[in-house]
Amino acid sequence: MSGRYPLEIHIEDRVRLRKPHPCGGYEWEVTRIGADIGIVCLTCGRRVMLPRSKFEKGVKTILERSRPAAPAIHRE
Ligand SMILES: [Zn+2]
Repeated sequence: MSGRYPLEIHIEDRVRLRKPHPCGGYEWEVTRIGADIGIVCLTCGRRVMLPRSKFEKGVKTILERSRPAAPAIHRE
């Protein structure tokens, strides 16, 4: 594998996205997982749905795992 891997994501994981929300917030919490990923902005509380492929490309860092056993992943 050359740095490409499916992003493991769970409900209540907190992520940092590459681009800020219009409110200025970078941090989001995952609220729904399916064909689309539901996230809520931790700065302004707005909920957004993104296609999974777009979400995976947008994630820069997983800040906090809802499941403690899983290590944090830093993606560049
Ligand atoms: Zn926001």
